[in-house]
Amino acid sequence: MNSPVDEIKNRLDIAEVISGYIKLKKAGKDYKALCPFHSEKTPSFSVSPSKQIWHCFGCNTGGDMFSFVMQMEGVEFADALRILAQKAGVTLKKQDPQLRSQRSKLYEICQEAAEFFKENLKKSKAVQDYLKKRGISSKSIKEFRIGYASDSWNSLYNHLTSLGHKVEDIEKAGLIIKKQSTPRTYYDRFRKRIMFPICDISGQVIGFTGRIFRGDESTAKYINSPETLIFNKSQILYGLDKAKIDIRKKDQCILAEGQIDILMSHQAGVKNSIAASGTALTPDHLRIIKRYTDNLLLAFDTDMAGEEATKKSIGLAQRAEFNIKIIILSKAKDPADIIKESPKSWEKAIKEAKPIMEFYFENVFSKYDPEKLDDKRRIAKELLPPIKRIANEVERAYWLQILASKLNVQEKLLNEALAKVRNPSESSYQPTADHPKAGKSRIQSLEENLLGFVLKYPEHIDYVKKNLEQKYFTNATTQKVFQELKKQKSNKKTNLKEFQKKVLSDKPYYINHIIFQIEHYNLEDKDVFKEIEFYTKEIKSDYLKKKLSELSLVIKKAEREGDRKELEKLKKEFNNLLKK
Ligand SMILES: [Zn+2]
Repeated sequence: MNSPVDEIKNRLDIAEVISGYIKLKKAGKDYKALCPFHSEKTPSFSVSPSKQIWHCFGCNTGGDMFSFVMQMEGVEFADALRILAQKAGVTLKKQDPQLRSQRSKLYEICQEAAEFFKENLKKSKAVQDYLKKRGISSKSIKEFRIGYASDSWNSLYNHLTSLGHKVEDIEKAGLIIKKQSTPRTYYDRFRKRIMFPICDISGQVIGFTGRIFRGDESTAKYINSPETLIFNKSQILYGLDKAKIDIRKKDQCILAEGQIDILMSHQAGVKNSIAASGTALTPDHLRIIKRYTDNLLLAFDTDMAGEEATKKSIGLAQRAEFNIKIIILSKAKDPADIIKESPKSWEKAIKEAKPIMEFYFENVFSKYDPEKLDDKRRIAKELLPPIKRIANEVERAYWLQILASKLNVQEKLLNEALAKVRNPSESSYQPTADHPKAGKSRIQSLEENLLGFVLKYPEHIDYVKKNLEQKYFTNATTQKVFQELKKQKSNKKTNLKEFQKKVLSDKPYYINHIIFQIEHYNLEDKDVFKEIEFYTKEIKSDYLKKKLSELSLVIKKAEREGDRKELEKLKKEFNNLLKK
């Protein structure tokens, strides 16, 4: 009996799978393409149907069809397995068939509702005119599958039941609401609204946002589908299915407020933009974005920046160690308005986005007078909490020092005040998972690949031991594997299985996974060392670069304080690092 993985690999061709995502060009017996994982002008991404692997020589990633889908969709192995199994027509066991069929019913219903709304829109000239007036092109309407729920209590209900769907299922999909009456009757949730389908990461419709169309002021401007079996608001980001590739390529994610903002931004060619769907930003959202990038740009107008919900979102993102910048929008304007006026000014606003701490400082110092005692206290009160949230110690010390000098108070006092600051309970964020994730950062992939190679070819262990230290690795798991590896002696006769078992015996899945990844490189023995050498150098230089930038912050601080002795010492350290 074949494993499902083998079964899927037998039935599907890697070139066919990959060409479902990107355009492949035949080159000899292989295929070439522009790499979807990094930005490039000449193709260095290649697919080998004979070996059933892919590799990019530009960003040095590669693997089999599973790892491709994992990286492309930003999902874990189990999801990639599910996606490819569906494609290959392979049934996976262990899934509750009840649940599965329930989910697929809801997918189907949402899909048909989206079609229905789309057809409605074609018949509604007034709505089309309105969309045009807002600056939305017909291409965007098509791409984002915008529709219209007409002014009727039961047209969707009638349509879906006429297609044979059960009333209970339509209710479970969140599209109709039960009336408090006997006999039980239902009515459509969305009426007289412009409909924006919300899709999951693979582009399947799972829910809707409805924007009122010329409604009376008493009803909500926007309503959303309720949470359902397939729609979990805290995990869904509007537009991510269309934005994910650009987010990864630009290594930057723009987060705006509303659906129309996202639509218009994509229309203006800024496709790395997404929105949370009818909810504040959650730790889950951030975890998902983290698969694609560490750089987050938030679009706020200056009023919103002061709001609690905004502060909370920023706080969460700070603690998740995102590099946050704020796109400053002039008052009472959202991105959609700006883009409608001129797409160029949107691009400009993005380019001029301010690092979060700079933004906070400017904002607070513009409100108060640092010469006045009362204002000093107010300034400190507003700025200490965000400073406290900075995860990196050096950076935190840096901003505290700036605050001290701007307020002209002793840093020591501020430090004491900082210790007392308690940030409101923000749900905790755990960026490191114990199992390898697709869409991991470049450096994490490098670390895992290196470890995979050493586990597979332990004869190179001495080289790695000599050149790397545990602190060079960026996460707890790779550090632990390296630590274990360091205990091993280089020996060509090492029994591989025994050796691998000894390392991290509590995480066999992880070990298997990283070995599995590198096995797909199908390297010849003579090339293995070159790979190991490459990873070793990259990891080392990445660590040193990080250290250098931290050190330069400390040096700036010493310079400002005029601490000559300290400065001498730091500069020496800096030069030593540079030499390395
Ligand atoms: Zn690449």
